[in-house]
Amino acid sequence: MGIFEDVIINAKSIVGTVGKKAGEVVDSSKLKLAAADLKSEINRKYQILGRISFEEISTEKDYSKAKKDLYEQICELKTNLDSLNDMIASAAQKIKCDSCGCYNVKGAIFCNNCGEKLTLHDDVSEHMSPDDVIDFTEDNFDDDDLL
Ligand SMILES: [Zn+2]
Repeated sequence: MGIFEDVIINAKSIVGTVGKKAGEVVDSSKLKLAAADLKSEINRKYQILGRISFEEISTEKDYSKAKKDLYEQICELKTNLDSLNDMIASAAQKIKCDSCGCYNVKGAIFCNNCGEKLTLHDDVSEHMSPDDVIDFTEDNFDDDDLL
């Protein structure tokens, strides 16, 4: 099952990178970017999982180990996505200082860090729903990842 092993090793490094990202970034636009990356990675794994199942039936080989690995990776990615969404939600409850970049509690008028007057931005108010994670549009599918 060589072709699938490559995909899985690659996926593990992506999980590590995103996990690190989630722990470090505070800027909500970066959080949203990381969440979008995670969503497309999850979608890609669903597609690979479907492809493996297809191969399993057509070749009558046993890919249950590969499928289990993918399942665990998807679960891990979903956990990461959940915590990212939490961070996005809590960032949306805070006001970012234009001057020093610090986050202040909602309702604050002056920055707690530098004293600058705070201005409200609406760009952090959209909600990211985990419901739209599954997107099986053909445009998303990249055959080169598998063969
Ligand atoms: Zn400030």
